[in-house]
Amino acid sequence: MRIAMIGSGYVGLVSGACFADFGHQVTCVDKDAALIAALERLEMPIFEPGLPELVATNVRSGRLSFTTDLSRPVADADVVFIAVGTPSRRGDGYADLTHVYAAAREIARELVGFTAIVVKSTVPVGTCDEVERIVREARPDVDAVVVSNPEFLREGAAIADFKQPDRVVVGTADDRAVETMTEVYRPLQINRTTLLVTGRRTSELIKYAANAFLAMKVSFVNEMADICELVGADVHDLANGIGLDRRIGPDFLQAGPGYGGSCFPKDMRALLKIAQDAGAHARLVEATISVNESRKRSQARKIINALGGKVHNRRIAILGLTFKPDTDDVRESPALTIIPALQDAGAVVVAHDPEGIEQARPHLTDVDFLADPYECAAGAEALVILTEWDSFRALDFRRLKSIMKSPLLVDLRNVYRGQEIARQGFRYVCVGRPDKGGEPAFDAAAE
Ligand code: NAD
Repeated sequence: MRIAMIGSGYVGLVSGACFADFGHQVTCVDKDAALIAALERLEMPIFEPGLPELVATNVRSGRLSFTTDLSRPVADADVVFIAVGTPSRRGDGYADLTHVYAAAREIARELVGFTAIVVKSTVPVGTCDEVERIVREARPDVDAVVVSNPEFLREGAAIADFKQPDRVVVGTADDRAVETMTEVYRPLQINRTTLLVTGRRTSELIKYAANAFLAMKVSFVNEMADICELVGADVHDLANGIGLDRRIGPDFLQAGPGYGGSCFPKDMRALLKIAQDAGAHARLVEATISVNESRKRSQARKIINALGGKVHNRRIAILGLTFKPDTDDVRESPALTIIPALQDAGAVVVAHDPEGIEQARPHLTDVDFLADPYECAAGAEALVILTEWDSFRALDFRRLKSIMKSPLLVDLRNVYRGQEIARQGFRYVCVGRPDKGGEPAFDAAAE
């Protein structure tokens, strides 16, 4: 099949490269000329494991190319995907659909022959109806069908998620569209992946409902972590205890500093608006948003409390700026709330991240960014893990103790075990894991 991918950011580039790897002929289009020029030089605009190799292989095989001009790729395409951004609209939380509708207008002008226009961006219910209206109004002559096909990939594991998805959701009532989408995703039949065909509006809502449910799980386990700390229970064991129940499942039950990223926060806000506009009261969505916001602030307080409640002019070293490991994405990362909160309390903050420093720099002021964890820790009174990068999992605590002003580890991702850290002479503060059957409590040195 011939595919035009409009928008070559995270989702567009990964999807385009994977579709090319499935054997389709793919052109990735983006209006950002610098991004396309970089891709033509095989330079990746994002950090995603396996992506450089996947892109290079498919470019060399002649199945994947890049351009800023959508006219030819759209005219030639059997399927045109819309994978442009749908950020939160400034001020009110609605999804900003400017890019989706602009893309629809540009696509409409170039259509030739039967084409499926597939909305892969995360969009509010009714957006595909509006895309269809735009296309019909611009080109009443054209034979096109608008399909919803939300994307569920996770940054950091995007290629595996795309190639081995739990399901593919296709929203359409058109038989030709179902046939086309079945062909597009045919290689997934080897793994018997379910292609779930639903109504278009249901498909649009499934994406928000999935993200909301996962965000709710994260906020739930974070609340459980707070309770664990107060009653002397262990959130890690609690998560196992409930996660082994197949009705609950083990994923998204890691307590931490709150969810962030390019999707959950904006999609939760957009879902709330969808519900409110429809006259529904989405109280769980509302509560999850508010629990997560206060979570980030409470974790800043936790760091300050670990330092005795006063951090004025005290140096705090932060490990991890991205919202999760294996990505350079810092959008709505907990670090962007926690670091300013520490600075507001007077702390001097230094930070290190394996991939996210350049992305974080414009969002933070008065932070010294350092090239490795040890440079970062030198002279600090607390070392704080905010993202569980693998490179933070085997730190040399002897070395850290010799260079830090005081040996305190605040581990907001529960990477380490208290006893292990205490043995190295460190005070240890973590999330929801107090005294564990003789293991040192989260304040190990106080024991
Ligand atoms: P992104 O910001 O990384 O990329 C969007 C790209 O679209 C940009 O490069 C931009 O220049 C381009 N663009 C905008 N208007 C255009 C136009 N008219 N023509 C051509 N290019 C245009 O965004 P993303 O993270 O890839 O997200 C895209 C969509 O997918 C969003 O709706 C998002 O919610 C959804 N989504 C994202 C993820 C994720 O993990 N990032 C996962 C699932 C779904």
